[in-house]
Amino acid sequence: MILGNGLLATLDRRDQRGPYGLVPGGWLRIEDGLITETGGPESAPAPDIDLNGRLVTPGLIDCHTHLVWAGSRSDEFERRLNGETYADIARAGGGILSTVRATRAATRADLLAAALPRLDRLMAEGVTTVEIKSGYGLDLDSELRCLAVARMLGELMPVSVVTSYLGAHALPPEYATNRAGYLDLICETVLPEVARRGLADAVDAFCETIAFTPTEVDRVFTAAHGLGLPVKLHAEQLSDQGGAQLAARHRALSADHIEYLSPEGVAALAQSGTVAVLLPGAFHYLKETQLPPVAALRAAGVPIAVASDLNPGSSPVNSLLTTLNMACVLFRLTPEEALAGVTANAARALGLDDRGRIAPGLRADLAIWDAARPGDLCHPLGVNPLAAVIRGGALTRGRL
Ligand SMILES: [Zn+2]
Repeated sequence: MILGNGLLATLDRRDQRGPYGLVPGGWLRIEDGLITETGGPESAPAPDIDLNGRLVTPGLIDCHTHLVWAGSRSDEFERRLNGETYADIARAGGGILSTVRATRAATRADLLAAALPRLDRLMAEGVTTVEIKSGYGLDLDSELRCLAVARMLGELMPVSVVTSYLGAHALPPEYATNRAGYLDLICETVLPEVARRGLADAVDAFCETIAFTPTEVDRVFTAAHGLGLPVKLHAEQLSDQGGAQLAARHRALSADHIEYLSPEGVAALAQSGTVAVLLPGAFHYLKETQLPPVAALRAAGVPIAVASDLNPGSSPVNSLLTTLNMACVLFRLTPEEALAGVTANAARALGLDDRGRIAPGLRADLAIWDAARPGDLCHPLGVNPLAAVIRGGALTRGRL
């Protein structure tokens, strides 16, 4: 199949291409699910499908979500706006532990039914690959169930699902006075079982004063390596814990949030090739004021990705297009950086080298938009110009 006369935002800066790796009047050939050839108008063969100048980007990649959960925390949002404090709500059993209770009580079918529309909303905006974390079950059975549901979503829907085991997300109530016991459970019981069943592609942790210490995370990461699993980290979201340096020592795929990342942390990420994943949705909902050190990341050449962090509490952002806008408005990323953050660099944050750009040899995962410029994906809010999605060479949404 040859698609012709498109505005290709290849996100491939080789061949001296300008911003976005843009090719006006571009064409591409798809064979056996892969892009085998691309070019500009000078070399265009007769196309099977005329794109009429529409914008073509790589299929979008949301590289950080928590989209499998049960229950709702919208009541807490309302209570806070009616004057209750976070501490009041936490004392009354709210916060992340309310999601843990609801998720533990949910069956596989419940979780699947809740997650499917969330996933579909992301896919309706051109997402072809999504990362999904566990971390709301915390005990063995619930974590296995959530990861199995995430895997099932990837079988039921035309989307690639990449999973991360996030046992070190919060201390479960039954271990409230036994932190070491919970670390034992993660490292000696849950993680080995997750690995044995092939349910996780990576291991994640939350390194923060309200979550786990660098020493505790180090233990989880060491266990992950022992099972051959790569790691990633929720780091420096609310304070500087030196999480980025820890992540870099473990050759982490990504360090995520990083509002409080120090210059030493930036240098460590640059040295290890770890991707910095920015999550402006959580920044927005928490009304944070500490900005991630974007200029320092740029200067050090750290690849920057952007993700929704879709979760029921701190980032109920079920939209990667909204996230692109927030990355530009709140974090001052350029639209090109933001778009690279949900394509080429998001692929890298997941350890995937077969997607994220439009280039020969990569998967034919493409989003086709009724948009005149790539920046149109970042500029408005509440506008979805998606026209069609091609995944693995097959049309999975819309019309061409
Ligand atoms: Zn997260």
